[in-house]
Amino acid sequence: MSTQPAPHEPQPDLVRLLDLQRAAQLAQGEPPARVRIDRIDRCIDLLVAHRNELCEAVACDFGQRPAAITRSMDILPSVLALKHARRNLRRWMRPERRGLQFPLRLPGTRARIMYQPLGVVGIISPWNFPIGLCFDPLASVLAAGNRCLIKPSELTPQTSALMQRLVAASFDAAEVAVVTGGRDVGERFAALPFDHLLFTGSPAVGRRVMAAAAERLVPVTLELGGKCPVVVGRSADLTAVVDRVLTGKLANAGQVCLAPDHVYLPREWLEDFVGRARAWVARAYPGLPDNGDYTSIVNARHYERLEALVADAINKGAHVVPVAGAGDSCSRQRRLFAPQLVLNASDDMRIMREEIFGPLLPVLAYDRLDEAIAGINTRPRPLALYYFGKDIREQRHVLTHTLSGGVTVNDVAMHYLAEELPFGGVGESGMGAYHGEHGFRRFSHARSVLEQSRFDLAGLAGSRPPYGKRLARSLAWLIRR
Ligand code: NAD
Repeated sequence: MSTQPAPHEPQPDLVRLLDLQRAAQLAQGEPPARVRIDRIDRCIDLLVAHRNELCEAVACDFGQRPAAITRSMDILPSVLALKHARRNLRRWMRPERRGLQFPLRLPGTRARIMYQPLGVVGIISPWNFPIGLCFDPLASVLAAGNRCLIKPSELTPQTSALMQRLVAASFDAAEVAVVTGGRDVGERFAALPFDHLLFTGSPAVGRRVMAAAAERLVPVTLELGGKCPVVVGRSADLTAVVDRVLTGKLANAGQVCLAPDHVYLPREWLEDFVGRARAWVARAYPGLPDNGDYTSIVNARHYERLEALVADAINKGAHVVPVAGAGDSCSRQRRLFAPQLVLNASDDMRIMREEIFGPLLPVLAYDRLDEAIAGINTRPRPLALYYFGKDIREQRHVLTHTLSGGVTVNDVAMHYLAEELPFGGVGESGMGAYHGEHGFRRFSHARSVLEQSRFDLAGLAGSRPPYGKRLARSLAWLIRR
């Protein structure tokens, strides 16, 4: 494939890196399992050996982020994904034999699918899980035998620079390399003629990335965000709902693509929910927002965006209920945003139109569950949907009348950790999925191979010119009900 400069003129060093990786891929051919496993092992070593430095870099970038969050939500999912790939990739790599239907089914004709590396894959990642959203997809990319260029976010500069150094120390640039930089580098990166481009980030930037990739017909996987709803049925256990929804909402201060964005709750449970939420927060995060287990909002722009969401909701008639201390100027300076429930939210408010990505939780009261389903279906398809309840028929009703990238029942976000399940969005929340075998397939080409038998099928059917009666008879016999 040509690597002539694209319309956006990729930086020469980016082009050089891509050329280097592509040349190595072509020279060395398809890497055997042991090479893939060695690359995966080097990723695991890097993450385990440098886990403390990585946690410190992320904390520096955020201002405050507990090491427990970086370990459990960035490093652990990556290590689990890498180990899962290491354990299973030999099986995934096996060619699959396929039976054939008549008339191809002749003695000696054989068909199989070979899963081959695509070549060089690009990864563009966001700031909210700056390590996990590089290494988690990298597990799939390497398992499938590809080489990889990674462009992490400029909003976590320390972490991105550290990952660049660590990757350079563990990998030849022809195998895996990290390039750093802002939006301009992102634009040039997205214009490179990769064999596949995986982008994790916002739908707005996702559109631009897809448009740039389209210039080169580069296939894309888009892992985007959205408003993940929680539907609480009347058969749910409210204690578990409060516990799990708030755990998911307040981890990383809500800056999680899978965080519950808003909750649909039976109207008569509203007061109870608010009381329990306050008690839960007081117990889990005493002294919030000034609590060491809490996370800063990543920068002033996002902090002010959250303030603007609250102001807009209040202006339009919402009742905003703090569930912990309102936060003084000191916590404001450290961008520790106090969590708040938003009652009476309506569709004209920004908070119900935009992804919240912070510790604000609209709680929407319903009388009939179908009101919640109708509300969900007026918005773009979310990355995840959460249903709480023991009523199996109701659960089925919710799942068959909505669509989302994934679902966790009676908890939030947990489907992300299941390597056996495809992870990805649908509609506005993205396209294409990865994780485990689905990730391996995503970054492989399923190549059809047919070995012809020694029998001359075309001759037997009379399908070689000059066409005559034999072909007419064969076709008349084949083309029937
Ligand atoms: P973002 O879209 O602003 O940026 C993501 C990456 O794209 C960054 O590395 C950035 O430098 C780069 N970029 C910016 N402009 C670009 C351009 N024109 N061309 C190419 N690259 C460009 O997203 P963000 O603010 O970093 O992350 C938050 C968003 O990511 C939220 O919407 C969240 O839901 C989503 N997200 C999705 C997942 C998922 O797995 N689906 C996971 C985490 C975050």
